[in-house]
Amino acid sequence: MFSTMQDVPLTVTRILRHGQRIHGGSQVITWTGDPATPRRRTYAEIGARAAQLAHGLRELGVRPGQPAATLMWNNAEHVEAYFAIPAMGSVLHTLNLRLPAHQLSFIIQHADDRVIIANGSVLPLLAPLLPALDRVEHIVVSGPGDTSLLDGTRARVHDYEELIAGRPTTYPWPDLDERAAAALCYTSGTTGDPSGIVYSHRSIYLHSMQVNTAESMALTAGDVSLAVVPQFHVLSWGLPHAALLSGFSLLMPDRFLQPGPLADMIAAERPRHAAAVPTIFQALVHELAERPRDISALASVTIGGSACPESLMRTLDERYGVRVAHAWGMTETSPLGTTSQPPPGLTPEEEWPYRLSQGRFPAGVEARLIGPDGAEMPWDGTAAGELEVRGPWIAGGYYGGAGATGPERPADRFSPDGWLRTGDVGTISPDGYLTLTDRAKDVIKSGGEWISSVELEGLLMGHPEVREAAVVAVPDERWGERPLACVVPVTTGEVDYAALRAFLGERLARWQLPEHWTTIEEVPKTSVGKYDKKVLRARQAAGDLT
Ligand code: ADP
Repeated sequence: MFSTMQDVPLTVTRILRHGQRIHGGSQVITWTGDPATPRRRTYAEIGARAAQLAHGLRELGVRPGQPAATLMWNNAEHVEAYFAIPAMGSVLHTLNLRLPAHQLSFIIQHADDRVIIANGSVLPLLAPLLPALDRVEHIVVSGPGDTSLLDGTRARVHDYEELIAGRPTTYPWPDLDERAAAALCYTSGTTGDPSGIVYSHRSIYLHSMQVNTAESMALTAGDVSLAVVPQFHVLSWGLPHAALLSGFSLLMPDRFLQPGPLADMIAAERPRHAAAVPTIFQALVHELAERPRDISALASVTIGGSACPESLMRTLDERYGVRVAHAWGMTETSPLGTTSQPPPGLTPEEEWPYRLSQGRFPAGVEARLIGPDGAEMPWDGTAAGELEVRGPWIAGGYYGGAGATGPERPADRFSPDGWLRTGDVGTISPDGYLTLTDRAKDVIKSGGEWISSVELEGLLMGHPEVREAAVVAVPDERWGERPLACVVPVTTGEVDYAALRAFLGERLARWQLPEHWTTIEEVPKTSVGKYDKKVLRARQAAGDLT
């Protein structure tokens, strides 16, 4: 029997049309640094300007199926590009403006970007790359910046507002195949070189619906969400698309990502929700302790990207009344993989283990654990294995670059039956809650046992004298590897390592306790604010950490 339902493709264009018409009064609020003058633009205006941008990009030669790149902060113009480019049938390529220059150049060439929309403030970063990027034809500059930096480059330079000015505010959006490419995003390269993931219209649509469910971010019209997570980091975890679907407003920090301005914008614009990696919230609670602000509007935050330390979750909850939903995901998973909403009917204390876990899988994400011998492990909360996932918003391969005829499926990242090998190691409880113990590459293999660097870090950061802590493996003749704890103290001066070790000893077995300790000024961070253990390992190998 055939279905009698209409076959309507799930596209970004539908999300745009819906947001523009049904939630036309909701807003993108872009922070300008001055609480008195944020830039407010309604979804109706965003839709009209997206059409104007599409006309402008078309005139620059952007064609269906081709990428058009953005090198931008989170702001209204970036949201316009988010919708204009996929809806015209082209591919939104969000460039990570915190990547080192050589990686950025590699990615621009790999994707064969001919047009780049860049914020004026990032031109000092882009300009030095251009001489080697001979295929880039157009740079569209949005917002103030020193365009003289682009003098002498081959690419033609346009002002964003001039490019769209006077153009029609509607566009004949083409009918698109829901499986067509809509957006391209490279991983941030925490453990290796960046690789490209191409999202389809369909995967974005389905993922956005998941973002809005009560089990994920539970956002609806009338809410304001502060999207600290960059639009170049896995499409801001789906927030811009989810916003036009359900009508919540977006508070966009632009380049003001330091804890001070973040606290100011929360106090002034009173968002109900915010999303960011743990390091952002760590810095925010330190800022608030030093210079208090009214953040009482903030009711819930989504924290993911790396493990959220228990101490941070409890501080936000107990001191500020902010409920943390811990979420796990990857560039490869769009990114929503799990969210830690506890099951109903528990007391607050009983909820904690669930809230601290990485969370439960939604219907769109199927999971399994694979043990060291390749066998599937039971979901009993104790058997550990590598997490593998599959589903309609999970990558089935990597982008092979311009000219490639299909996705690349390296055997170490995809199982023979097509599941994504996440490289994350953990357990799953009988009721489907994932607890990650570590990344496979970060776990410390000591005498045949595994020590979780994440667990050590989380516990250490619960000590009042510790601001940040990162733990890496050091080679050991007898045990293979042993943990080295790199600690950033709250105050300057001598750190009492014996006291820290004793503190850890209250929760962990003796063999798990680090005997190597060092004090560092700051834990190096990746381009998306995660601990960069590659750098610490290199410093350790070079004898720089003792
Ligand atoms: P990269 O791999 O370059 O860091 P991603 O942002 O895609 O880029 O990182 C995905 C990885 O981040 C996951 O595989 C996992 O190791 C880690 N991660 C994400 N969320 C969490 C979380 N809540 N807890 C622990 N690790 C997490």
